[in-house]
Amino acid sequence: MDFRVEKVLPNGLGRVGTIRTAHGEIKTPAFMAVGTQGHVRFLSAEDLRGIGAQAMLSNGFHLRRRSHEIAEAGGLAEWKPTESFSSEHDVDSSRRHGRVASSSSVVTSGDSRKENSVGLRPDNLSAEPWRGPTLTDSGGFQVMSLGSGLGKVVSMEKERGVVNTAHKERLAQVREEGVSFIDPFDHEPEFIGPEESMQIQCRIGADIHMAFDELTSLADTYEYNIEAMERTERWALRSLREHIKHRDDLGYRQNLYGVLQGGRWEDLRRQTARNLAKMEVDGIGFDGFGLGGAFLKEDLGEILRWCNEELPMDKPRHLLGLSHPDDILIGAEMGADTFDCVAPMREARHGKIYTRDGNYNLRKMADSGEVLEPGCDCATCRAGWTRGSLRALWRSGDTEKKQKYYNLASTHNLRFIVRLTEEVRQAMLDDNFAEYKCEFLARYYAGR
Ligand SMILES: [Zn+2]
Repeated sequence: MDFRVEKVLPNGLGRVGTIRTAHGEIKTPAFMAVGTQGHVRFLSAEDLRGIGAQAMLSNGFHLRRRSHEIAEAGGLAEWKPTESFSSEHDVDSSRRHGRVASSSSVVTSGDSRKENSVGLRPDNLSAEPWRGPTLTDSGGFQVMSLGSGLGKVVSMEKERGVVNTAHKERLAQVREEGVSFIDPFDHEPEFIGPEESMQIQCRIGADIHMAFDELTSLADTYEYNIEAMERTERWALRSLREHIKHRDDLGYRQNLYGVLQGGRWEDLRRQTARNLAKMEVDGIGFDGFGLGGAFLKEDLGEILRWCNEELPMDKPRHLLGLSHPDDILIGAEMGADTFDCVAPMREARHGKIYTRDGNYNLRKMADSGEVLEPGCDCATCRAGWTRGSLRALWRSGDTEKKQKYYNLASTHNLRFIVRLTEEVRQAMLDDNFAEYKCEFLARYYAGR
């Protein structure tokens, strides 16, 4: 995979670049649309192109049982999900989306790793697959959500008071070989280790894969983070070894990112960054790096700085599962190149609309004749859909109308975040990123 850095911020970390994959280019910084099950809910490939999305992120864990079928189709970019698609592996319910359900000050990298059903199916399955660049996550998040975080609000409001689920109650048990778990839908016992995760991801055939990792929770101690991080590094080596065997199986090159854990500790973050940066099998190293973990929002910038000061400049970095505007601005400033998160679309389905002046809920907009956001360049706002008319679709008992609402509102929120990354890129190229960031945040958070 080719990655070219075109410009670097004065802090030596943030940068503008281009990632080239077998299925096209990603101009960075960039936000990836989340299609957990292999397609983006309520948005067609054409909608995504209109929004300016450059890549899609899917989940290897959720697609594991369809991976043979996907390989037969020629990989994710050729695969058309059928109506037999269901939410059978939605292990995460909306109750657990603490961060997006509140104005929490806590960040959990991994929002991309969970997408819940809204109780409607099938949604508008695209007749045409997303043929552009794709990425799959390894399933590391599910290790936590079925294990230490089972039944918990994964993104905790506060560090204090967070406790892990007792070992005997967990649906997933982590061992050196991998993770044994009980499928939450059919209650069958299963096992995924680094080798299985690589085989699954190489059959799904996204352009970029994540090494198998263990995401720790905010409740885990420093000592446990050392243990988990060292295991994640051993899994990273096994992932790399297995990946090399299968990365060309579908006739094009699939790439592997090593995933950094280490919680909120500087020594662990720097150490694991150095270890993964030099890790090689037969002279082949990682093609890029995934920045993972659960941490307090106020720590995000520092943690990214520690990691990215150690990682090589010429490899791309993906920040897993964060999409609030301040997270993206800090992430891009500190050297993250790509982002993903299901929040813009999930929040749209819950009536939460993003604007430059902060967010609002459509619930209170029954009589509004205004568009979602005056001046917005998304297809929904350009077509003149008003807040009142969208609210009526949303609250309608009619499935088709509701789905129309999901399409229109998702289009607006996703465009909002994609446009933010486009503007960040342009501001960096124009040497005015610092001013842009300041102005954006002052306006966005003015109402708080
Ligand atoms: Zn709009």
